[in-house]
This record gives sequence, structure tokens and C-alpha cells, in this order.
Amino acid sequence: MAQRIVIIGAGFGGLSAAGLLAKQGHAVTVVEQLDHAGGRATVWEHDGFRFDLGPSWYLMPDVYQRWFHQMGTSAEAELDLRRLSPSYRVYFGARDVVDVPADLPATLDLFDTFEPGGGKKLERYLERAAYQYGVAMNEFVYRDYQRITDFFNRRMLVEGARLNVFTNLDRYVRGFFDSDRARKVLEYSMVFLGGAPDNTPALYNIMSHVDLAMGVWYPMGGMGAVVTSMQRLAEAAGARFAFNQPVRRIVVHDGRAVGVETDAGIIDADIVIANADYHHVETRLLEPRYRQYSDRYWDSRVIAPSAFILYLGLDRPVEGLAHHTLFLQHDWMDHFNTIFRRPAWPDRPSYYVCAASKTDPGVAPAGAENIFVLVPVAAGLEDTDAGRARFEAMILDDLEHQLGEPIRDRIVVRRSFAHRDFTARYNAYRGTALGLAHTLRQTALFRPRHRSKTVRGLYFTGHYTHPGVGVPMTLISSQLVAQEIGA
Ligand SMILES: Cc1cc2nc3c(=O)[nH]c(=O)nc-3n(C[C@H](O)[C@H](O)[C@H](O)COP(=O)(O)OP(=O)(O)OC[C@H]3O[C@@H](n4cnc5c(N)ncnc54)[C@H](O)[C@@H]3O)c2cc1C
Repeated sequence: MAQRIVIIGAGFGGLSAAGLLAKQGHAVTVVEQLDHAGGRATVWEHDGFRFDLGPSWYLMPDVYQRWFHQMGTSAEAELDLRRLSPSYRVYFGARDVVDVPADLPATLDLFDTFEPGGGKKLERYLERAAYQYGVAMNEFVYRDYQRITDFFNRRMLVEGARLNVFTNLDRYVRGFFDSDRARKVLEYSMVFLGGAPDNTPALYNIMSHVDLAMGVWYPMGGMGAVVTSMQRLAEAAGARFAFNQPVRRIVVHDGRAVGVETDAGIIDADIVIANADYHHVETRLLEPRYRQYSDRYWDSRVIAPSAFILYLGLDRPVEGLAHHTLFLQHDWMDHFNTIFRRPAWPDRPSYYVCAASKTDPGVAPAGAENIFVLVPVAAGLEDTDAGRARFEAMILDDLEHQLGEPIRDRIVVRRSFAHRDFTARYNAYRGTALGLAHTLRQTALFRPRHRSKTVRGLYFTGHYTHPGVGVPMTLISSQLVAQEIGA
């Protein structure tokens, strides 16, 4: 039966839910506080430079494809996708560089340079990762968990053991590889999941199948192009978007969500879906008696990192950068420890630089370079102007040292972004960039629920919920919600 559905937030979670539910025949309205869709995937344009403020890696193309298919089209029809080659570049130290190739035989050769038999070991590792990816996606990721027995059933325990849910990734990788370099290439992607190699279940070795075998892709126009296309398809299916309208309250009558209140008044609904940060929704948009999770619950969560990000428009290209370049410090666990164990601004962080203009001439003026530098840092840190200036100077010193090229004298556009911005722009809990980390105790059933247990007709989607962090995961989260609501 067609229902009136109001979605709070037009991030990837809200957009994907809007499209699917409108396609299912519901009357969908998306209410967004910003003046555009995309949420953390906002685009910022300045003096001819166009920056994706958030996601920049288009991974797991199968997941995007599934969404586009459900909308009656395909990723190829909607996006101009390019497979990046090399997939990415890694600096293990100053001018100590390797390119991780887009083709597998060359990647095996690369691993042979890391340690004796490295290629053969990688082959075995990736064979298992490919198998596990299939099982994980079918059995584990594309399904919802309402009660404990949905997770701890016989099948899950057998598959869970087979999928290495119960050990951590670092331990698992050490079982295959001895070299620091091999381990870093296979573990860096844990940052995408908001975790560290030693606190993320080994199941996520599937991320190596994702980046090394399925490939790293780029939609021309950037991730903003994906947002535009998803909004267009959602609107074509009948969804309406109301921008510049922060939701102040979810209206609940007799334990049922019946609408949302904005400064313009109340929008009635049969179902409300919250895509905004879970903590914000529970603590700011609902009366205390309708909260499902206490302050103690939130205090005890492992919150995913925030990020210090520098968006830089440069007047000429940087030779030492590929489209994606990772700068991994020798002792990278020390950096992870400052994120999860003893929160502090790190002294010698690893970081990531995106130079989208290497692939896409549309994101920078002719002859110029568009880069951003992203450093994962602990959520909840004090974020001051003076602190940012010191940190920025340290990062630029390190970047210039590693590259052996000057950066500072090329900067013509500059913007920094950290905790305060995540909180002010997105209502992020403790300024987190990514929501909740993927520790074992925050996986599947143990993530905050999709369906409220205190308010009927209230659902949640987005990166706090199962399956978790990253654009593909938020698309799946919405698919699960849309499936549960039904046509
Ligand atoms: C810097 C950065 C880099 C990343 N890199 C990658 C990457 O390379 N690849 C990848 O796959 N993922 C990446 N991610 C993760 C990915 O971007 C997120 O997991 C995903 O975009 C989260 O989407 P969401 O819809 O759950 O949340 P959001 O994007 O935060 O959407 C929530 C929306 O709700 C709105 N909202 C909040 N409060 C209210 C209110 N009261 N009323 C109305 N609206 C409200 C917000 O404005 C926002 O638009 C990155 C994230 C960041 C921050």
C-alpha cells in the first residue's frame, strides 16, 4: 500500500532510500538541512576548482550497479566510470614509492618484491578473499538482523568461523605475510571502515578483493556526479526534495511516527526514515522517552575517526602524486593508537592525498592541480584554529619531504576541514567523519537498529546502521530498509 514517507537527510543513505521507495510506489519527501543533496559527499567549488569534500574512492562497483538496476537503469548508462591505473600509489618513506597496478599479474609481481614468494602468497590470499566476498555479501551483508537469533544461529556460527569474523585482520594477514609492506597494502583500507587492522574483524580482508581484484574506479565529475545522478533518478521516480529545512523534531503520536517538524511547519507522514547521524536523531529530534540508546551506550561505542582535511588548489601539477596516493609512515600503529587507544593529534601520521585532476580535467583550471590531503584523527579531539595551523604546517612539511617537491608555493585555493565542520555541517557526533567503527562488537546485529523499537513507523538508514561505513554500505543499508517497508 502506498504510504507517505518522509526521509530526514539527503546523504547517500537518504538518496538511495528515496529512489527505491519512490520506485516502490510510495509518496516520498526528503527533508534536508543543507541546500543540496549528498551529505558528506558535498561538492565545493571555488575559483575553477571543484572538490569532493567527502568520498573519493568508488569501490565495490557491484553495489552501485545493483542500486541502478533496481532503479531500472545501469551504472554505465548514468555515469562515465573509469578504472584507475595504477589503482593507487604508496609512499613507504621519502621517495620510496610503489604503484599498485590495476592488473593482477603485475600486482603479484609487486608482492614478489616485498618478500620471497609474496606473489604466490597474495594469490592464495586473494582466492580466499574472493570466496569470502561472495559469501559475506550474500549471507551477511545483504540481510537485516532484528534479534540475537538472526545472528547467532548455527549457520552464522559456521559461516562466521569460515569468514574469520572472530579474529582481527592484523592477526589474519600476519598468518600469510612477513613483510611490513605487504601488510600495509592489505590493511590500509581499514581506515575506510573507520577502524584499525587490530580492531577490525578479519572478515574485512574482503576489502583486498575489492581494491586489488574488482578495481578502483572514478566517476568522471567526481562522487558529486553520482549524487546528481541518484537525485535525478529519485526525482524521476516521484520523490520530492525539500532543501534548507533542518528537521527540529520527529512528531510521535501514541508511539507512532506521524511526521516531522521544520521551521516551515509539520510534514505529515505514515513512515519516517532518519538518515541524519543516529546520535543527533535520538538526542535532538526525539523526546527522551523514545530514545533507544542511553548516554552510557554512546560513551562506550568505538567511534570511527574524524579527519583533518586540506583542500588545495595548486597552480601546477605535482609530479609525485597519482590520482590516489597513500603516505604510510614506518610506525603506522602509533598513529592508529592515537585514534583509538589514547586519543590525541598524531605526531607522525599516515595520510592520503587525492589528486582527482590527474584523471579529470574538469575539476581544476587548465594546467592546475586539485588535491586534498586527508589525515584520519580521533573523534572528539579539541579542534582550534591554532591547533589546525600547527597540524597543517607539520603535514605540508612532511608531504614536501616525502615528495621531494615544493607544495606551499603552488597553493592558490585552500580550505581546511575537521571536527568542528563535521559537527556544524552534518550534526556529527563528536565530529566523526565516518560514524561508528567496524569492531566485532559493532558489526551486524550490534550496530544501531534499522527499525526503532520504541517508535512504530520510524526507521534509520546510513553509516551508523548495518552494514556500516562507506558509500556502498549506506546504499545497502537503505536497500534493507526499503525491503522491510515493502511496496
Ligand atoms: C572525508 C571523507 C572521506 C570518505 N571517503 C570515502 C570513500 O572514498 N569511499 C566511500 O565509499 N566512502 C567514503 N566515506 C564515507 C562515506 O562518505 C559515508 O559513509 C557516507 O557518505 C555516509 O552517508 P550517510 O547518508 O549515512 O550520511 P551523510 O552523508 O552524513 O548524510 C546525512 C544527511 O543528513 C542531513 N541532516 C543531518 N541532520 C539533519 C536535520 N536535523 N534535518 C535535516 N537534515 C539533516 C545532513 O546534512 C546530511 O546531508 C568518506 C567520508 C568522509 C567524511
